[in-house]
Amino acid sequence: MWKNVGYYNGNIGPLEEMTVPMNDRALYFGDGIYEATCVANRIPFAIEDHLDRMYNSLRLLEIPFHMEREAVKAELQKVIDAAEDSPIHFLYWQITRGTAPRNHVFPGPEVQPNLMAFVKPHTMKSLEIPYKLISLEDERFKLCNIKTLNLIPSVLANQRAKERGCDEAVLHRGSRVTECAHSNISILKDGVLRTAPTDELILPGITRKHLLQLARDFGIPVREEPFSMVELMNADELIVTSSSALCMRVESVDGIPVGGKDPERLRMLQTAYLEKFHRETTPV
Ligand code: PLP
Repeated sequence: MWKNVGYYNGNIGPLEEMTVPMNDRALYFGDGIYEATCVANRIPFAIEDHLDRMYNSLRLLEIPFHMEREAVKAELQKVIDAAEDSPIHFLYWQITRGTAPRNHVFPGPEVQPNLMAFVKPHTMKSLEIPYKLISLEDERFKLCNIKTLNLIPSVLANQRAKERGCDEAVLHRGSRVTECAHSNISILKDGVLRTAPTDELILPGITRKHLLQLARDFGIPVREEPFSMVELMNADELIVTSSSALCMRVESVDGIPVGGKDPERLRMLQTAYLEKFHRETTPV
């Protein structure tokens, strides 16, 4: 057992000591896709949703990954089971197009994709401490619906957020809000939950999907339509969702106070999400 566990094509060991071949196409092109989720009681949360999205990303990038769903789950479970105890773990995995000499075009059919994963201890963010955001123009390309390894615009956006003492960056294309650097964003306005539609401008977040379902369960109307920065700033509440932090309230954007006008509805959704997480990661 190790605190941080690494996995590469069947080999498991301490994460810090694992190495990958220099010709893995992730290193030259970011030519691969990834997934991540939290784990409690050694049960990965919402694994089926993550595997659905994983296979969809692979299909969209034409990566010929033939490992069956149950086999992927079994490999990931080996990584989880090799980790030292922790109340929550973070599970990350990625699949690249394979290992081949650097060449932009796809390698031949003899080259197999590479499966890499790691597990490490994770601490969930406290729901009591709201997020501070900065806003930035969304400069990403238009394949944001695919969870690719090409994350430079998100890296830069998160760095800018950190430099300004913030937790996340909310991105917009012109006035239209898309999502955050590594989260989705939704708003509550007049009792309605609003969030950007799942087109090529945003990642179809698993947490976003669950949040919308919980809202519908509570009878909260849901509108999946573009909304503007002005609407964001005037929203009753802003909710940032991601697998690593679940549902976070937002207290400011660019230093300007936002939200705080529908705390009961927001708290109801946050609590329901946390309950769902614990229910679905409790052994039966
Ligand atoms: N949007 C982007 C760009 C992300 O990178 C992520 C998570 O990594 C999300 C949204 C949230 O997705 P999920 O809720 O599936 O973690």
